[in-house]
Amino acid sequence: MERARGNLVAAEIEYLQRGPLKTLYEIVEAGDVGPGLVSAGEMEGLYTGTFSRKGTQSRDLYDKIKQGAPNGICPLCGSQQIKTLDHYLAKTKHPALTITPINLVPSCSDCNKAKGDSQAAADSDQHLHPYFDDVDDGEWLFATVVEASPPSLNYRADPPAAWPAPKRERVIAHFENLAHGFLFAALSSDQLPSMRTRLRRLLAAGGAQAVRNHLSEDLEGHKEERRNSWQIAMYAALVASDWYCGGGFDA
Ligand SMILES: [Zn+2]
Repeated sequence: MERARGNLVAAEIEYLQRGPLKTLYEIVEAGDVGPGLVSAGEMEGLYTGTFSRKGTQSRDLYDKIKQGAPNGICPLCGSQQIKTLDHYLAKTKHPALTITPINLVPSCSDCNKAKGDSQAAADSDQHLHPYFDDVDDGEWLFATVVEASPPSLNYRADPPAAWPAPKRERVIAHFENLAHGFLFAALSSDQLPSMRTRLRRLLAAGGAQAVRNHLSEDLEGHKEERRNSWQIAMYAALVASDWYCGGGFDA
C-alpha cells in the first residue's frame, strides 16, 4: 500500500479534474492499482475489512461521508434512507478509487443495488453524481394521474428542451436505470389513501375547487423544500386532474 500511495493520489487528482467536466466515464478501467502493486481484491479487503468496519478509526471517516447527505436521505432518489456508500465508479473496475472519498456517495440500498457495477460508455449514459451535478435548475420530474380504482400516478423524466442533450439524457438514464418511476409510484400509492378523509370533507363543503385549493397549498409547501421531488410531481398532477379533484380520489 505504501508503494501504491502515489497511484491512489494520482487517481484522486484525475477524478477531481474530470468530475466537473463530466468525463469520469473516460477513466480507464484497471484490474489493480499501479500495475502489480495492489490487486482489486486487496483493495476490496481494505474497504470491507478496515475502512468500513465498525470499531476502526477509519469507520469514523466512512460515517462522516454517510452523514454528508442532507436529512439522511439518499441523494440519488431523494426519497429513501441512507444505508450505505455507493462507489460512483465501481471498485471492481477502478480499484485505485476504492477508498477515495469523492468517489463515495451516500446511498439507499435500492439505488446502490440498481446501480451495481455498471460503467457508462458515454457522457449521456452516466448516472448523476451528487457532488458534481446540479439538475435542479429546471423542472424535469412529472407525473400523471391514472384514473382507476384505486387512483395511482405514473412518473416520467422530461427535462427542459433548453438543456444540453447530454444533460437531458443523463437525467433520463438515471431515472430509468435506477427504476425511480416504480419507486415514486409506490410511495405515492402509499400516501394517497391517507388524504381521502380530508378531501371528502372538502369536496362536500366546497366542491372540486376546495379540493384543488387544498392540494395546491400542499404543492407550494413541497416546492419550498426542493425541486423535482416525487411529492411535487404528485401534487402538481393531482391539482391538474379534474377527475381526481372531482371525487376520483375516492375511486
Ligand atoms: Zn436512493
